[in-house]
Amino acid sequence: MTDLKNFRFETDADGIAVATWDMPGRSMNVITEAVMDELSQIIETVAGDAGIKGCVITSGKDNFSGGADLTMLQGLGRAYEALKATEGEEAAMVRFFEESRRLSLLFRRLETCGKPFVAAISGICLGGAFELALACHHRIASDDPKTRVGLPEIKVGLFPGGGGTQRVARLMQTGDALQMLFKGEQLRPLMARNMGLVHAVAPKDEIVAQAKAWIAGGGSAVAPWDVPKFKAPSGKVYSPAGMMIWPPANAIYRRETHDNYPAAKAILASVYEGLQLPMDLALKVESRYFAKILRTSEAQAMIRTLFISMGELNKGARRPKDVPPTDLKRVGVVGAGFMGAGVAYVSASAGLEVVLIDQTAEAAEKGKAYAHSLITGQINKGRAKTADRDALLARIQTTTDYAALKDCDLVIEAVFEDPRVKAEVIRQVEAAIGPDAVFASNTSTLPITGLAKASARPDQFVGIHFFSPVEKMMLVEIIKGEATGDRAIATALDYVRLIKKTPIVVNDSRGFFANRCVTAYILEGHKMLLEGVPPAMIENAGKMAGMPVGPLSLNDEVALDLGLKIAKATEAQLGPDAIDHGQKQLLVELVENQGRLGRKNRKGFYDYPEGAPKRLWPGLKDLQPTRLDPDSLDIEELKHRLLVVQALEAARTVGEGVITDPREADVGSILGFGFAPFTGGALSYIDFMGAAAFVELAQALEAHHGPRFSVPENLLAMARDGGTFYGAARQQAA
Ligand code: NAD
Repeated sequence: MTDLKNFRFETDADGIAVATWDMPGRSMNVITEAVMDELSQIIETVAGDAGIKGCVITSGKDNFSGGADLTMLQGLGRAYEALKATEGEEAAMVRFFEESRRLSLLFRRLETCGKPFVAAISGICLGGAFELALACHHRIASDDPKTRVGLPEIKVGLFPGGGGTQRVARLMQTGDALQMLFKGEQLRPLMARNMGLVHAVAPKDEIVAQAKAWIAGGGSAVAPWDVPKFKAPSGKVYSPAGMMIWPPANAIYRRETHDNYPAAKAILASVYEGLQLPMDLALKVESRYFAKILRTSEAQAMIRTLFISMGELNKGARRPKDVPPTDLKRVGVVGAGFMGAGVAYVSASAGLEVVLIDQTAEAAEKGKAYAHSLITGQINKGRAKTADRDALLARIQTTTDYAALKDCDLVIEAVFEDPRVKAEVIRQVEAAIGPDAVFASNTSTLPITGLAKASARPDQFVGIHFFSPVEKMMLVEIIKGEATGDRAIATALDYVRLIKKTPIVVNDSRGFFANRCVTAYILEGHKMLLEGVPPAMIENAGKMAGMPVGPLSLNDEVALDLGLKIAKATEAQLGPDAIDHGQKQLLVELVENQGRLGRKNRKGFYDYPEGAPKRLWPGLKDLQPTRLDPDSLDIEELKHRLLVVQALEAARTVGEGVITDPREADVGSILGFGFAPFTGGALSYIDFMGAAAFVELAQALEAHHGPRFSVPENLLAMARDGGTFYGAARQQAA
């Protein structure tokens, strides 16, 4: 064997080898070209050396591995385009297919090499790494609380192409296997064992010894599916049992994806076809689908946004380089209401000391009680211990006294959305904190530059905009006011990193980035309602377009009175042309005349009956001046309206300099408001469609529906020049 760089390989006196995966200079093992080369050498050495009985594969790091290096897969796509240009499509396809199935062939070689392999897993073992484990003849997982196995490829628009679909479908009942592949969940060790995906669970420091013992005890080097007369757990596809599974599986696929995710369809096809074939052919079928999916715009867009860009933003891509790392230990949260309580909880969960202030001791305590209820929920789910709760609550100090903020490095205010109340809070906080502390506002609508006028040190004043519920939503918008300095931005970014959320940095604007797009989505739903589109059709069009919920449902979650309040405030400040009067009237009717505020009072566009699913309020039809015949409506146009209106708003934020990096609009739109993830985000939606085609679509909508579909100048120019948002950003950076 030539020198191994990514593995240590040792054989003990009993002839049992241990390959310890430990890539130099990386915190996490990933599957790269070099790793595949070395793994191949290890397999051939084990297979060819009569003195070696078998081999244990384990990791020298805390985690086993996060899976394949997705940038390598992106590289395959680029190589394909290059080869297609020089040698033609067929030659490029042949090469692409061979390259994209390398991992699958390697794992199959391991499985059939004649010597037993055991995976000894601790920590994260996901994607391609778990496919490696599945190809091993035996799997032992450690009971370490951090151990997780799974095949999450679907989350980036891919599916397991290293044999995962075939092995899982031969280890589990078909229905369970499909569900596991569709959901891409990370499984805890005991769950994985109960599902038949690993054979044993053992303490971390015993997994390698147990793996060796399994080999020494004569563990078989033949996978169950290579034993003649093997029967899959659910039997044959063409059987009465199979017919109980496949027709509903198709229906579930449609219901869950609205046919927007080619990778999910490929999973269905790959399992369905593969189960009817012997393993080698089945793997070839899987590889064919994998090569096809890897080249879809959905996979390319999702890998770029949800893996690469998100990773870069999480690692501080937008952090001002000259500011030394901050050492945040103590944060203040002023306003212990709905948002403040959530902010206190996530901060304390990250190990920060929290000073939680409200007008009364009871209000502050109520905010802390929220943290108590959340961590108790975690304990009930087995995700935390009572000692964690005690420690977390001990980190939250409640008070009404601003003097307690003295040693805070960062103070976040989440008091009422009223400029006067906020100005008073700013004054009181600044009187109490040290000269280096940063002040942040969690306002959702008030421009930061205006609020900072109440500050004596506007360079240390920044917006940190959370989404609700704080503990669940992964996005945080950091808003740069006109005077906000680099240190405030860096502090905000360091804080967001500590609480393990994803930050985007945007320039000041009414509604910042996310809420502008969300507002456009909700308004479009209201417009449709007033046009006479059946409410259920509006909601379904939203979901079919790829949004997590329809616009009316989303409005119920946000609260209808909040929308009305914002509309009234906007009209008062910017004049009657700044709002949509039909929408205002609709909200006035719902909120003021009908007392329907949304989910919070169980009455909004939907009714929320106790103990039963929500249902659209029958009274909505009486608010419609006309009612259109659903058969006369074009569902594709409704879907387009709902996405295009948001993408146009995103394009405007770029034109206005609110968004300065397309990665942030894309990541922000998916994490912040669930913009159809298969598109890769609101700007990728335009880029992948092509600016010219998008502009044509928007202009056709403008002709029918008015100026909210008018195309901003930056996008018109892009359509003329054949440019893209990402191309423009690259040019600017160069
Ligand atoms: P809330 O009414 O639930 O909480 C506000 C809290 O601030 C109350 O507990 C109140 O007693 C306290 N408070 C008011 N004046 C105070 C003062 N002078 N000193 C100390 N405490 C004071 O409101 P919320 O929904 O948590 O919103 C708070 C802020 O967060 C607002 O600026 C809002 O725009 C913003 N925000 C809200 C959401 C959301 O979905 N609710 C999302 C993002 C941002």
